[in-house]
This record gives sequence, C-alpha cells and structure tokens, in this order.
Amino acid sequence: MEKWMEQLQNSVNTLRRLKEFINVTSEEEKAITDLDTKWGTTPYFASLMARDDPDCPVRRQVVPSMKEKENRYGIPNYLIWKENRATDEVRPDSIARQYYDRIAFTVTDMCANYCRHCFRKELVVDRDLKLRFDVEEGLAWIREHEEIRDVLITGGDPFILSDDKIEHLIRKLREIPHIEMIRFGTRTPIVLPHRITDGLKKTLSPYHKVPIWVNTQCNHPKEITEKTAQAVYGLLCCGVNVGNQAVLLKGINDDVKTFRELHQKLLSVRIRPYYVFYCEPAPGIDHFRTPVEKGAELIRDAIRGHTTGLAQPMYVIATNIGKIPLVPDYYIVNKTEKEYTLKNYKGEVTTLPNIPE
Ligand code: SF4
Repeated sequence: MEKWMEQLQNSVNTLRRLKEFINVTSEEEKAITDLDTKWGTTPYFASLMARDDPDCPVRRQVVPSMKEKENRYGIPNYLIWKENRATDEVRPDSIARQYYDRIAFTVTDMCANYCRHCFRKELVVDRDLKLRFDVEEGLAWIREHEEIRDVLITGGDPFILSDDKIEHLIRKLREIPHIEMIRFGTRTPIVLPHRITDGLKKTLSPYHKVPIWVNTQCNHPKEITEKTAQAVYGLLCCGVNVGNQAVLLKGINDDVKTFRELHQKLLSVRIRPYYVFYCEPAPGIDHFRTPVEKGAELIRDAIRGHTTGLAQPMYVIATNIGKIPLVPDYYIVNKTEKEYTLKNYKGEVTTLPNIPE
C-alpha cells in the first residue's frame, strides 16, 4: 500500500490514538467525547503537535474544543448563504458559484485533516449539511455553461481521491473547449505530503494548454517541513504552481512575528503566498476569529516593506458576493490637484505629481 494511503488508514481519530501523540487535557477529552463532530488527522501532521501545550498552533487546528458549541457571530446555514445555494439558478450540489466565469466544483467531503476552523464545517466536519457529489452531473453542467473558463476543484480535499479519479476529472475538463484553467484546493502538501506520489505527478505532469494550479493551506510556520518542501518541488517539476491560502486565526498566526515567519518560510519552500482569508462567519468557529482589520494591519506591520515583496499575500474577506480585499490604508496621506503625499512602512513621507487624465 502506498504511504499516503497508510497515513489515511491510520488516521489519528480516536482518543486512544491521540494520546500516543499528546497529553490530552480534560477540556480536550470532554470535547472529543461530547461533541458530535468529525475530527482526525494524519499520523504525520499529528507528530507536529506539541505534546504538552494545548495552545500549540497545530494542535488547535486538529483537536476539537468545547468552544465549537459557542456561536455568537456565526451565520446559520452558512454554506447555503455563502455559496449562493438558495438562488434561482438551478445548479448541481457540486457546483458553488459566486462569479460569472469561474466556479468551485466540490467533489468530496473527505479530508486528511478535519480542520477545526473550516468554513465548510457544516458540510465537512459537523455534517449537518448533506450534498451530493455527483462528478458526472457537475461535469455536464460545466459543459453546458460556456461562460465558465476556470474550475476550482475542491471539497473536502480533492487530492484524497485516487489518481484514476483525479485523472478522469482533469481529462474530462480538458475536453471542454471553454475551460482555460484547472485549480485544485488541497491541504495535502501540508497535512499529507506523502500524497504527492510519482503516480500523482504523472497524472498532473504532461504539458497541456490548460494548466493546473494548486493552492494549499498553511497557517503556521510549524506546519512547513522538509517533506512539504519535497512535495512542493515535485509539483513544480511537473509544471504545477503552488500557492498558499492561509486563514487568519486568533492565537495561531495573528501576531507580527508568526505572520512574517509564515510568509517567509512559505517562499523558502517555493510556495507563493496568495491569499490570507479572514476567518469566515461559519458557525462554531468564533474562537478563531479576529477583528476584520487585523489582517490588513499584519500586512502593514509584518510584511509590506519589512520583507521580500513576493511574501505578500492579498488579505481578503470571502463573502456571498465574492472576495472583498482589504489593504492597509496609510499609503496615501494626502492628495491635492498638484500632488500625492505618500507614506511608507517606516512612516517616511514622499510626494508624487498628480497627473490629470
Ligand atoms: S482541508 Fe479544507 S475542507 Fe478539509 S477540513 Fe480543512 S479547511 Fe475544511
């Protein structure tokens, strides 16, 4: 059996197994016993957890918490609202749409790590929402909609599917004349790097005019290992670019030092920081959420000007009407008919002529 399948088969998803990796606190044990929720991770990712620190950034993403019962700010039926599933447009369950020319194609509700902060929690983790993942039905819908040029294959985690299923998806999408690009959203380079096998690389690698992009999710520098670096290099060698979509998580990556280190370390393993998402108002994840401005402040205080420009992600709030970018607002201090006054990250000021149209 391939190593990635062994990792999934030996998933750390019982109290007994978890105790092999960490000293479980009474609060954690109560959450595991009392909450009706799917949880678990790979032995590989579990081995990154600190044995005696319940605040360990990896551990908080893996182990359920009683705080998931609290819900002051979460929107009920969040995914129905967020993914515009209650509109007049008739679409298969597998198709989520917020934009004219691109869609998210949900092909599974299985993951290698059931992230406690997941915005698809209702579907993937708590399983109150049931959707049909009929790949053929989704493909037929995409075929009929000529305005769709970009398909994001998501889940759950689509790289949990077999090589054959992934190959089928890619081949069928590439047969559709209006598809210009295919994207995969997968946490496997971070939580299950063993998944980037020779077989998968063969599936992804032949040159084709319809490129494949991968975006992963890494939220803390501790999640980046040599295994991740190797997996990412493997993807790049077969022509697949790898970006990161972090989630801004309170107590995990919302301080200047961690935020900068995360984005620098991503570049060091050839992952391009792409987005940082505000932690969405899905139910049961209030304890991970920061004030909205926090992400823009972190870009101002930790990244812009402070380190390599390539390390700068775009900070966005994902909503039912699409992503709203939020940028630090200090750059333009003043604007007159004659000139702009601009400020840099150190507070230094300069001017630029204001050119009329
Ligand atoms: S891998 Fe993605 S879909 Fe799966 S639980 Fe984590 S955030 Fe949610």
